[in-house]
Amino acid sequence: MKGYYLTEPFNIKEKESEEKEVLSSQSKVRLTKALITLSDVLRYNGEFDAKDVILGSAGIGVLSETGQNLFDLEKGKRTYIEPFRECETCYNCKKGDFTKCSDLQIAGEDFDGFLSDFISANPEKLFVLPDSVSDKEALFIQHISLAIAVYDKLNIKKGDYVAVIGANNFGNIFAQLLIYYQAVPIVMTLDEEDCAAVRKSGIYYALGANDNWQKEVSNITSGRMTDKVVYVADCNIPVTKAFSLASFGAAVAFTGAFNKSGNVSFMQAVKKQLDINCINTAVGYTTTSINLIANKAINFNNLKIAECSYSEVPSTFKKLAKELEDTDKISETIVNMM
Ligand SMILES: [Zn+2]
Repeated sequence: MKGYYLTEPFNIKEKESEEKEVLSSQSKVRLTKALITLSDVLRYNGEFDAKDVILGSAGIGVLSETGQNLFDLEKGKRTYIEPFRECETCYNCKKGDFTKCSDLQIAGEDFDGFLSDFISANPEKLFVLPDSVSDKEALFIQHISLAIAVYDKLNIKKGDYVAVIGANNFGNIFAQLLIYYQAVPIVMTLDEEDCAAVRKSGIYYALGANDNWQKEVSNITSGRMTDKVVYVADCNIPVTKAFSLASFGAAVAFTGAFNKSGNVSFMQAVKKQLDINCINTAVGYTTTSINLIANKAINFNNLKIAECSYSEVPSTFKKLAKELEDTDKISETIVNMM
């Protein structure tokens, strides 16, 4: 096995590792594509803890060895691998309530991620992909799962106005999911390119840097403001904006890879008695996400996605770290592994 290890901040090395023993119940996947996300870049530049681990937040591949007694997992099938593992030792895991694991292990951080030639995994982490789901779409399964998890957590209903602050790929996907479920997203972003992408993806209310968000949201909601607000981490918009767009008692969710600790005033949040939620992992939604993609619920054409080859991984991380420094965000990048 070989892969790109983060040996220390700003330093990744391709290393051969000893063949890990594959349990008879596990299957082995030859990775064909992987995804570099903001979390990977934050690990790379030392803002997130990760050391001596292979980076890469999502991956797909082809089954090369299958464990015993698995009927639908046949050799050669195109497969998505869930990028997390339940800890199996916390209170909830011990009770069998794995979706509420309080120490969820994340690929690329707590265990080896997907910038590697092979990966072995337990069968419950492997999902055979239908032909109607492209490689690119499959790499964004976890984005969709997170979008559904936020939707569930905020108890969003048909017809609800939802303020979406930030329009990176996740914000775009989340807004599209809201439309699919017949809610009404109002997307706000300071990035004109993202704003245009959201509009092209079929979102009617997309407000840019030159709009007066407070006034527009008030107009759209007939003065009520929104009962649901979702703030996406790398949007570079003051967090207090989320509070000012919320109605009294509204549910607010913070999601995405937060790296900076700043001073946030909770004055408005307390005054309005907001219900504040933090959510960045989504367990148990993979099958639903695959079905949503197969049903064409999400249009991926307008997302901002870069590509690179396996050999370009070190230079790509350098470039993305610079991009993060200069613009406070990154282009999520698909790595062609073969
Ligand atoms: Zn656990």
